[in-house]
Amino acid sequence: LETTLAIIKPDATRAGNIGHIVQRITDAGFRLRGMRLMHLTRQQAEGFYAVHRERSFFGELVDFMCSGPVVVMALEKEDAVRAWRDLMGPTNSKDAPKGTIRGDFGTDVGENAAHGSDSPENAVSEVAFFFATSDLL
Ligand code: ATP
Ligand code: MG
Repeated sequence: LETTLAIIKPDATRAGNIGHIVQRITDAGFRLRGMRLMHLTRQQAEGFYAVHRERSFFGELVDFMCSGPVVVMALEKEDAVRAWRDLMGPTNSKDAPKGTIRGDFGTDVGENAAHGSDSPENAVSEVAFFFATSDLL
């Protein structure tokens, strides 16, 4: 079993979609090992997205991720990294099919409702960024 890091982004928390998204996660068979509602500081958002520091959209991404509370979750399942990315759908909500989280709850390439780790290695460090082992189920 694998654990991945998921975030319900500020657009989706603002729109009242936390419950709908958590329902999809549990319906899809993930075990919710950790969950925090928090408003990221600039420093936390910049640290979390440090790999994107040189990208043109970095400032916009950090502004967005600090624009309101997010829900940070650790999700366990077989092949969790891939399974959660499949459930989210493609990065750009405009390209994401109905039935995916980004298709149903996101708006565009920036405001796309959810984050997921992109590899098992990054999942380990992203989970550790937000959760102490003793806080995980
Ligand atoms: P995430 O890492 O959030 O799960 P992803 O792996 O599908 O998304 P990345 O390429 O890692 O996509 O981009 C990280 C995030 O940066 C995206 O989810 C999106 O919010 C934002 N982003 C990506 N591309 C753009 C862009 N061209 N303009 C604005 N924001 C963008
Ligand atoms: Mg990514």
